[in-house]
Amino acid sequence: MPKIAVLPGDGIGQEIVPEAVKVLKAVLANSPEKFEFIEYWVGGTAIDKCGKALPEETLKGCEEADAVLLGAVGGPKWDHLPAGERPETAALLGLRKGLEFYANIRPVKMLSSLIDSSTLKKEVVENVDMVVIRELTGGVYFGEKKRIENPLSAYDMMSYSAPEIERIIRLAFEIAQDRRKKVCSVDKANVLETSRLWREIAIKVSKDYPEVELSHLYVDNAAMQLVRYPEQFDVIVTENMFGDILTDLASMLGGSIGMLSSASMNGKKGMYEPAHGSAPDIAGKNIANPLATILSAALMLRNTFGLDKEAQQIETAVVKVLDQGYRTADLTQPGDKCLGTKEMGDAVVAALG
Ligand code: NAD
Repeated sequence: MPKIAVLPGDGIGQEIVPEAVKVLKAVLANSPEKFEFIEYWVGGTAIDKCGKALPEETLKGCEEADAVLLGAVGGPKWDHLPAGERPETAALLGLRKGLEFYANIRPVKMLSSLIDSSTLKKEVVENVDMVVIRELTGGVYFGEKKRIENPLSAYDMMSYSAPEIERIIRLAFEIAQDRRKKVCSVDKANVLETSRLWREIAIKVSKDYPEVELSHLYVDNAAMQLVRYPEQFDVIVTENMFGDILTDLASMLGGSIGMLSSASMNGKKGMYEPAHGSAPDIAGKNIANPLATILSAALMLRNTFGLDKEAQQIETAVVKVLDQGYRTADLTQPGDKCLGTKEMGDAVVAALG
């Protein structure tokens, strides 16, 4: 029986994940295979319940599952904890490292019904359709870090091995082959040695994919190009920290961070989560946008379970609901019909047909 580990986590995670599970159960209702959904504690919620942001039972449950559906973790209540115990580090980095989810895949597409919700001009964003691939288990976030008291200083080491770079670049080419066949590798090769190695390997791997065009951009230029002329991009691939920053920037090209889904992959196994955080400012009010999580669930069906038709059904239902003028508060413009979190989940289920 296919197993899905469900980790709502903190803040709005507790509200948006149940909506995605509701949509998954509806779309899988007639599936010949019975899917098992097993819920686990993670993040600040897990600290409150059992003292650890990533309890052993949760990690084991995720290891045994075929896929993980995660909400978000963190919040002011746990900000005072030492870095290694905080939900964002202990739980998120722990899950990524523990399950070797080395590739984060974020599709960014402007839906025509959301163009007016973007803070950018219509002509800049109307044809946006890209995938940003971020390396997730290497680089400066996982390198050695130290604080030195005398003289007061600190360092974080950025390092990458050749195999770590090669597997993510290869994935970018594989994904580009099924799209518009363009890979843009983003680095800082004018300054960083890790980036010079990154670029060399990108060029070497590109020889195996002669039909895919490879280009390179320095990360500062990539940030500028993303808001200047984003439709030039098909697949962007970059290292961990650059990807962290560029994916948030790219989220605004899709209308709202509440729309951006993501998949963290290790082969077929994946952890699926919205690109945003736990949004403590709006938690518990039934106003959070559940669509990024619902779209992440669609990615799960496609990437892990090979259920392309069901994934497409969810994506079509989301487009239909938006076309009907339904919005959550983060997307609402004058004239729209504003729905709460639960009601938006119900609307997507109804639109599945
Ligand atoms: P955030 O993404 O939680 O929120 C940023 C802004 O976007 C807020 O105004 C919020 O209300 C809004 N927003 C986010 N998701 C939304 C949604 N689905 N619908 C409507 N509005 C939405 O980022 P933050 O405020 O910097 O971080 C809050 C907490 O989340 C922090 O503890 C942070 O460490 C954590 N965080 C967790 C993850 C994760 O679990 N993957 C990612 C980023 C931040």
